[in-house]
Amino acid sequence: MLKKVLIANRGEIACRIIRTARRLGVATVAVYSDADEKALHVRAADEAIHIGPSPAPDSYLRIDKIIAAAKVAGADSIHPGYGFLSENPDLPEACVAAGIAFIGPTADAMRALGGKAAAKQIAIKAGVPVVPGYQDASQDLKTLKTAASKIGYPVMIKAVAGGGGRGMRLVENAADFADALDSAQREAKSAFGNEIVLIEKVVVAPRHIEVQVFGDTHGNVVHLFERDCSLQRRNQKVIEEAPAPGMSPELRAKICGAAVELAKSVGYQGAGTVEFLVEGGTLAADAPWYFIEMNTRLQVEHPVTEEITGLDLVEWQLRVAAGEKLPLAQSAITMSGHAIEVRLCAEDSANGFMPSVGKIVWFDVPAHEGLRLETGVQTGAEVSPFYDSMIAKLIAVGRDRSSAIQQMLSALDQAFIAGPQTNIAFLSALLGHAGVQSGTMDTGLIGRELARLTLDTTTKAAIVKGAHELIERRGIDTARMRGDRIDPWIGRDGFQLGAQRQTNFRFDVSGMPETVGVSWSERGCLVSYPADNIEIGPYPSPDSYPAKVLVADNSAFVVIDGRQTVVSWPTYDINEISDGASVDVIRAPINGRLAKIMVAEGDVIAKGDKVAVVEAMKMEHVLHAARDGTIAKIAVKEGAQVTQGMLIASLA
Ligand code: ADP
Ligand code: ADP
Ligand code: MG
Repeated sequence: MLKKVLIANRGEIACRIIRTARRLGVATVAVYSDADEKALHVRAADEAIHIGPSPAPDSYLRIDKIIAAAKVAGADSIHPGYGFLSENPDLPEACVAAGIAFIGPTADAMRALGGKAAAKQIAIKAGVPVVPGYQDASQDLKTLKTAASKIGYPVMIKAVAGGGGRGMRLVENAADFADALDSAQREAKSAFGNEIVLIEKVVVAPRHIEVQVFGDTHGNVVHLFERDCSLQRRNQKVIEEAPAPGMSPELRAKICGAAVELAKSVGYQGAGTVEFLVEGGTLAADAPWYFIEMNTRLQVEHPVTEEITGLDLVEWQLRVAAGEKLPLAQSAITMSGHAIEVRLCAEDSANGFMPSVGKIVWFDVPAHEGLRLETGVQTGAEVSPFYDSMIAKLIAVGRDRSSAIQQMLSALDQAFIAGPQTNIAFLSALLGHAGVQSGTMDTGLIGRELARLTLDTTTKAAIVKGAHELIERRGIDTARMRGDRIDPWIGRDGFQLGAQRQTNFRFDVSGMPETVGVSWSERGCLVSYPADNIEIGPYPSPDSYPAKVLVADNSAFVVIDGRQTVVSWPTYDINEISDGASVDVIRAPINGRLAKIMVAEGDVIAKGDKVAVVEAMKMEHVLHAARDGTIAKIAVKEGAQVTQGMLIASLA
């Protein structure tokens, strides 16, 4: 067996790998960037080595630093996790050169299967059906456009090096082709350093079905059944499950068999996932199915496979890397029950899935028999803008699908995460959706139902609740309020007199000013949201909204039905806030880096013009002007770090 493994990753997956290594008596080495100095994976490992500054290209993506760390620690093996370097063949190559075992396939297998175009060619050779399309080398506009017309619109443009749904564009007609190609290439170039694309037919009402495969160094390849990852937003998985609901035994046999054939044809070693699309929404015996790509690594959603097979995939990876044979033959691998996984992300689902950063002031997610938590964070952890927004995964297991879903719904109901916004409310709404409950979904479900799935019915109640908590706890703090430009505080006089005079109070809600009405009686304060009949106070009872509340420092973190609203005493300069919500300024929507400024002081701009781009958590956020005007001032330099709410530009 291996003796010491270095994990070239972070977050929940690093913690997950460390757990199995420890159980097997393998020592563990974590690596970390500046931002991760206090991260959970660093504390979980036996030792930890600092590898550089926070941006991934300076740390987690530096092969030289990772190999050097492995040598310093005396590690005999490197596990790449997923994301980061996990599909970069230069890492296994560097491992071979350094005499370190790479826990994954060979560089050659990775090269052959890593690119989507090359992988499709291999699939065609192995007799596996692929999505009809163009996957050749010529990349000039004319060739690609001709290919698209031949395939027939709508078509999909895909970066061959793409992953996580990036570098992919659906094109409805020929007129949009050139623009879509341009933007797909640009995104692919910046995210993967490779702008080569392929063109594919768009599969109608697809189910995303993928097969877990495993190979060893002795020529054995097996499959561990399928997963269904059809619930996606922006072509990125949100909820995954195993087995696929409604899967006919015939289709399962065909798809799993094809996955094994494909892996065998390249002598695949280690864990891999072969992804397919099944057309038409059902998994009937005769449904058309196509290979789309292979992921040559452990997948985010591997726990659902572990739960239905009772196997530990990380253990298998370590054994294969140590040269052992696969622990089980195909005939000995069975499945039972049903498992479903949700990706818990620090993001605002109702606001374009915008990533959310900051300190996790409270993290309480239930875990018990039948409910598995894989987390990279805990209370006090910092969600930084440098990495992915996924902070944890929750996996519910049941005898059957509906009991697994029930288990998950009640867990999400109990969960309480305060600090960054999370997608818990969205996940609950999704699991409660009729199409999801009946298992009749396709990859377009979230997109079609977005408005309903992100319906915000709780914010106003939460503002009132949070304001009430803050006022009650602080009491009447006249000194604090004096001098603010909000209406003068009426003080204890009003309280003594039991007067129902109402005062407007301004709070900061997610960086925006919100005003609530406050009045006092003998029994305490009554808070109301103007123009809405939402009131909270001594009457009706402060608990009329089933809210989870945590008050820390200046803020009340209020979670109602899984959605968080943070209500804070204003900390900003009150003069600045007079225009805070207005159309006269452009502010950073999130902590990140000001990647680009498209305007200069004195420029005349029109409503809707692009003003700047803020880059955070692997996403670009384009900021637009809210009105016509002239740029009066640019407050931040291109390339600088910005914090949420920071002034970027103002209009005259
Ligand atoms: P895919 O969707 O590409 O088939 P997965 O669903 O397994 O594969 O997602 C893997 C991707 O998720 C990675 O390529 C990476 O971009 C992203 N990712 C999610 N969480 C993390 C994390 N903690 N660290 C690094 N990458 C992550
Ligand atoms: P990535 O590397 O980003 O995971 P994939 O090729 O696996 O890219 O595609 C991700 C998702 O995009 C699929 O699960 C599916 O929802 C959608 N998709 C990809 N190709 C097609 C296609 N040809 N037709 C329809 N949807 C597609
Ligand atoms: Mg994929």
